[in-house]
Amino acid sequence: MTPEQFSGIGMTSQRTRDRLVQRLQEQGIENQALLDIIRTTPRHIYLDEALAHRAYEDSALPIGFQQTLSQPYIVARMTELLFAAGAPARVLEVGTGSGYQTTILARMPGVEQVFSVERIQPLLEKARDRLRSLRIYNVQCRLADGAMGWAEKAPFDGILSAAAPREIPAELIEQLAIGGRLVSPEGDDREQHLVVITRTDDGFERQIIEPVRFVPLLSGVIRR
Ligand code: SAH
Repeated sequence: MTPEQFSGIGMTSQRTRDRLVQRLQEQGIENQALLDIIRTTPRHIYLDEALAHRAYEDSALPIGFQQTLSQPYIVARMTELLFAAGAPARVLEVGTGSGYQTTILARMPGVEQVFSVERIQPLLEKARDRLRSLRIYNVQCRLADGAMGWAEKAPFDGILSAAAPREIPAELIEQLAIGGRLVSPEGDDREQHLVVITRTDDGFERQIIEPVRFVPLLSGVIRR
């Protein structure tokens, strides 16, 4: 990647990114480290060139295979919730997609390793390339059905899902460390809510945050 592709020009410039961060602050995002990381992460490289000029709109954008790059507000909100009680050292992400949310998580202070699972191979491969081009090395990706989590790497201090199950799978919840938090949408295509589940010494606490709209968590793996 050339320096110009990385830093962006015109609608993909630093100034456009600054405006996005200002909007996120107006929407109530307060985590300063997170806002700084969004400010310095080029979102346009996670999109096809034809869509790059829309990268700093606060909207979800298509990445192919009927999937979307999550809306910046949602990426910020979920990350803030995941970090609300301190930084998780080991994080599991379900639904790598473009790799944008993965990048934000990997760059957050206190995060040591991100384990990211995606079921669509071509998306996963592109995301891997982007992470490499940004020199982000604390991410391990895996082609698999993320509903099962990643048992070999568990327990996780944080779990974040970018796709909505009807009900958050028990396998996933069980891979939380004590004190760990899971942030995920839950519901069907008519009604979904963002949910936070915290594992305590003697069980799980569940909190419903706000209505959201995510692509569904689907089963099975798609190979190229
Ligand atoms: N955070 C991503 C969001 C991508 S959309 C981004 O900002 O780009 C959600 C992603 O979840 C899609 O890529 C979809 O393929 C993936 N997904 C859906 N069901 C899944 C499952 N069971 N396991 C792993 N990934 C899944």
